Amino acid sequence: MNKWQQLEHKYYMPTFKRIPVTLIKGRGARVWDDNGREYLDFTAGGAVNSLGHCHPSVIEAVAQQVKTLIHASNSYYTVPQIKLAELLVQNSCLDKVFFCNSGAEATEGAVKLARRYGHLQLGGAYEVITTTGSFHGRTLAMVSASGQPKFQKPYIPLPSGFVNVEYNNIEVIEEAINKKTCAVMLEPIQGEGGVNLPDDNYLKTVSELCRQRGILLILDEIQTGIGRTGSLFAYEHYGIEPDIITLAKGLASGIPIGAFLAKERASVFTAGEHGSTFGGNPVACAAGYATLKFIIDNDITGNARVMGQHLVAGLEGLKQKYKFITDVRGLGLLQAIEFSNNIAQSLMRTCLENGLLINKLKDNALRFMPPLIINKAEVNEALGILDKALSGIKSQE
Ligand SMILES: *Cc1c(COP(=O)(O)O)cnc(C)c1O
Repeated sequence: MNKWQQLEHKYYMPTFKRIPVTLIKGRGARVWDDNGREYLDFTAGGAVNSLGHCHPSVIEAVAQQVKTLIHASNSYYTVPQIKLAELLVQNSCLDKVFFCNSGAEATEGAVKLARRYGHLQLGGAYEVITTTGSFHGRTLAMVSASGQPKFQKPYIPLPSGFVNVEYNNIEVIEEAINKKTCAVMLEPIQGEGGVNLPDDNYLKTVSELCRQRGILLILDEIQTGIGRTGSLFAYEHYGIEPDIITLAKGLASGIPIGAFLAKERASVFTAGEHGSTFGGNPVACAAGYATLKFIIDNDITGNARVMGQHLVAGLEGLKQKYKFITDVRGLGLLQAIEFSNNIAQSLMRTCLENGLLINKLKDNALRFMPPLIINKAEVNEALGILDKALSGIKSQE
C-alpha cells in the first residue's frame, strides 16, 4: 500500500471497496497513476467522463467561466444555466429544466415533482412505483426507491411512498397502480443493477399504461442519457416520450451536475417549492454546455453507436472462443458480459495489471462504459487485453 492509500485508510470513511491504484492524471481515454503507469479507461469514472478526461472544450469552458463568475445565488439569473437549459430542451422531448449537483438529487427532485403533481392533479396521490434491481441513488428516499435490499437493510426504517415491483413485468405494474399512485419511475436500461435491458415493448406498454391511468412516467437516464446508448437519450430507442427524465453522470464530463427535465404539463413547481444553493452553478453549467454542444455538433452519439457495435462484435467473438462467457448485453457504449462462474474480480485485476480499467458489475459480470469519444484502435486494444485475461482463466480451469 502506498502513502496515499495509507492516508486514505487513516482519514476516509471506508465506504468504498477501492482498487489499489491512485490516479493522478487523465487525457482522452487514458489515465495515469502515481507510479506513472498508464491505463486505458473503460470505466470513464462510472459513465461520467463522456468526452474522456480533460477534453479541450471542457477545459476551455471551465477555465473561462472560473475567470468570469464562479458562483451566484439562484436569486439572480446566470447565463450558463439558461444556455444549458435551452440546449437540453431543444434536443429532448421535455420543456422545463431544474439543475442540481448529483444523480440522487435529480431523482429525489423528480419524485418531489411527481408528488406535487399528485397533490395538484391526482387528488393527493403520492406513491411512486419502481422495479426490482433498479438504482436511483443514495439519499434515504432514493435508497427506499431503489429495488435493491442490500442498500436498504442497513437504514431501516426507510421513507415510505415507494412500491417496488418486478422488473420487465407489465402485469405487476398494472396491479400496483391505484388511487395513491402518482408515477412510475424506471431506468430505461438498469445500469448498476446489471445492465438489464427492457423486454421488447416493456417501456412502450408502461408508457401507454401511465398515460391511460393519468400518472407520470419518470425515466432515470442518469446512466443512459447524454449519448451513452447511441442516441442522446435512451427513450428515443423505444419510441416513447416520458413526462420527466433525470440526468447527471455524463452531462458535464466530470464536473458535478444533476438535472431533471419535465414536460410542460408536469412542470408544476412554483416559487419556493424546490431549490438548491449550488444547483445550476455557472461553472458546472458551462462544463455541461460545452459537453452537450460538442456531442451534438460532432455526432458523438453516432460514434457511441458505431463503437458500441464494434465492441459488441468483439465481445461476441470472445463469447464464441470462451464457453464460460454466457451473455453479452447492452446498448451503445453501455455493455456487459456475464460468466458462468465468479471470475469478474480476477479478470478485472488481470486487466488492471495489463493496463485496462474495467468495472466489475457483479461477481460474474463486467461492465464496459468507455468515454463516448473512444476510437476503434482503443476498443481493439481493450478487447486484446481482455482476451489475454480470459485466456489465463481458461488455462486455470
Ligand atoms: C449513478 C446513478 C444514480 C445516482 O447518481 P449519484 O450522482 O451517484 O447520486 C441514480 N440513478 C442511476 C440510474 C445511476 O446510474
